[in-house]
Amino acid sequence: MNNETFRKELHRFADWIADYYENVEGYPVKSKVQPGEILSELNKGNCFEHVEMDTLLADFERILLPGITHWQSPNFYAYFPANTSPPSILAEMLTAALAQQCMIWETSPAAAELEEYVMMQLREMIGLPETFTGVIQDSASTATLTALLMARERATGCGINDRGFTGERFRLYCSEEAHSSVEKGVKIAGFGKDNLVKVPVDGNFAMLPDELEIRIHNDMQAGFIPLAVVSAMGTTGSTAFDPIRAIGKVASKYGLFHHVDGAMAGTALILPEMRHLADGVELVDSFVFNPHKWMFTNFDCSAFYVKDPDELIRTFSITPEYLKTKRDEEVNNYRDWGIPLGRRFRALKLWFVIRGYGRDGLQAMIREHLRLAGLFAEQLNSREDFQLLAPVVINTVCFRYVPLNYGGDLNELNARLLERLNSSGKLYLTHTKLRDQYTLRLVVGQTNTAERHLNEAFDFIVQQAEELCGKES
Ligand SMILES: *Cc1c(COP(=O)(O)O)cnc(C)c1O
Repeated sequence: MNNETFRKELHRFADWIADYYENVEGYPVKSKVQPGEILSELNKGNCFEHVEMDTLLADFERILLPGITHWQSPNFYAYFPANTSPPSILAEMLTAALAQQCMIWETSPAAAELEEYVMMQLREMIGLPETFTGVIQDSASTATLTALLMARERATGCGINDRGFTGERFRLYCSEEAHSSVEKGVKIAGFGKDNLVKVPVDGNFAMLPDELEIRIHNDMQAGFIPLAVVSAMGTTGSTAFDPIRAIGKVASKYGLFHHVDGAMAGTALILPEMRHLADGVELVDSFVFNPHKWMFTNFDCSAFYVKDPDELIRTFSITPEYLKTKRDEEVNNYRDWGIPLGRRFRALKLWFVIRGYGRDGLQAMIREHLRLAGLFAEQLNSREDFQLLAPVVINTVCFRYVPLNYGGDLNELNARLLERLNSSGKLYLTHTKLRDQYTLRLVVGQTNTAERHLNEAFDFIVQQAEELCGKES
């Protein structure tokens, strides 16, 4: 493709993207395709034949678009937000164009120094103390694994890096409600998932620090070495908040590495009035949250902060001859701050987002999401036939339908309600189980979700719920 054609295509694709956002509410939020449908369409073509961009774009629309779940629809309330925004998309276009390899300073000085800068600005924005240093990781899962590896190497003076495990019996802790990435990290880091101890939670699904201490104590008696604890700042199920300060006290009493997983909820910390949710965070060793979830920055961009960057670098650094440079002492070579060598230029979109909205703009958008989640919860609360199943602390509403005098199985009823809501294409929610109760979750966090969307969602949920029961009787 010559540059002239490329320029034309860029304009066409820019229009495609703007049109998409204009029409995004018209698509079914959750894709309606069946497993294998996309693949069999793809199989009908000849992949190896050169085609023009017209054909490719047409095939993209015809074959792939039906299989897209529209995370950027304002009616997307499933899982967690993975939102984006115009500044983020524009920056990502530049990132794709420059196609940087940001492994060391020399391979992209601007990327290295922008990452250092923007992580400092973000730290200030979320109110983390200056004792933390940040680095961008691809995901919270990777950041948590990275933290567990740091803990492992701290406990053994980098011994496991050198000689592998030699019979150490470590134990790690998180709550029953912690994200599956903790267990995955424990497996990958070689601890064995049987050594991940799931600590019970209180009525609000937050870890009980006394129960943590009891388990640490028992493990020590049994000859295990308690190594690390992961606190959830916003669990995935109900967005519950573990008491970081109390857990931190236990962690420091027993010398545990303390990592905080704030993957989605961390964004709330840009609001000073929400900082209490991270009370005690100055005590921890590492903290992660994902601007790629709720902070208008498209995937991937995970902000990982550590107290001791030297400890992080000691865990990961490798310097083969071909990667040595004269500047190694003066600069950040981020290849040593995590797992992969090659790294994308992720700082750019974060910089664009922060400056594109300004701190005040970002705060206003997050405040609005909190207000909308509160409003939706109030509306549910005003009805006798809906029940909130967890406190609405920030943007997640956990609820179920409890029709009056219903004799049937509420779990089954709510599963059918969810299926019915999602197959309508009008909105998309997901579920969890809280105390064995099938729970619908509505998470407010898509960039363009506004009050009218939530009002419509509420009316639609009520209508569908009533129809579901009407049909039965
Ligand atoms: C989403 C989520 C994760 C995983 O995030 P990735 O960036 O996809 O790895 C981990 N922990 C919590 C609490 C989450 O909500």
